[in-house]
Amino acid sequence: MTRLVVSVMVALVLALAVVTTLGATSRLSLAHEKVAGQAEAVLVEVPGPETGSPCPLDARYVDEQPNGLRADVLDAWHRLREAARNRQVPLCLNDGKRSIGQQQREFDDAVRRFGARELAAKYVLPPEKSMHVKGIAVDVQPYAAADWVERNGRALGWCRRYQNEKWHFEYDPGYVTAGCPPLLPSATG
Ligand SMILES: [Zn+2]
Repeated sequence: MTRLVVSVMVALVLALAVVTTLGATSRLSLAHEKVAGQAEAVLVEVPGPETGSPCPLDARYVDEQPNGLRADVLDAWHRLREAARNRQVPLCLNDGKRSIGQQQREFDDAVRRFGARELAAKYVLPPEKSMHVKGIAVDVQPYAAADWVERNGRALGWCRRYQNEKWHFEYDPGYVTAGCPPLLPSATG
């Protein structure tokens, strides 16, 4: 083959790879698309409560108000809590919504503690990656409640996502029919 033919073929393969990647990326972001009329740019700036009342079952945790969650996620949270109550499972919202600013402060604290951004990023997500900032994630405590959500939440659209975060659940209406995706090792990869 001439050099020209080889170059053209390489270019075609690269173009195909780019198109495939873009397609996968846009499908991925669609899974977390906001509710119609609710711009994500605004939602990510909505703060959540800084803290809440002590969790009645385990005072190491708090029970925050679910303020700031995306509208459909808030409805789903109320349905989850109701279902748990019907089963006499007390469940606390240890952490829910965070704004970009709140997540950034947590990240900056971690950078100070660990001494380097790269190290901090292993433990705390930067704001653009956090599902708490997007308003679709909740941290449920105590452990017994998290166990119950892991076993029963999927029917209401709640799935555990990470092996190292037993308490962290994300809402996606697609989970109800498709089931929960396989657990990832951690949020920070
Ligand atoms: Zn979480």
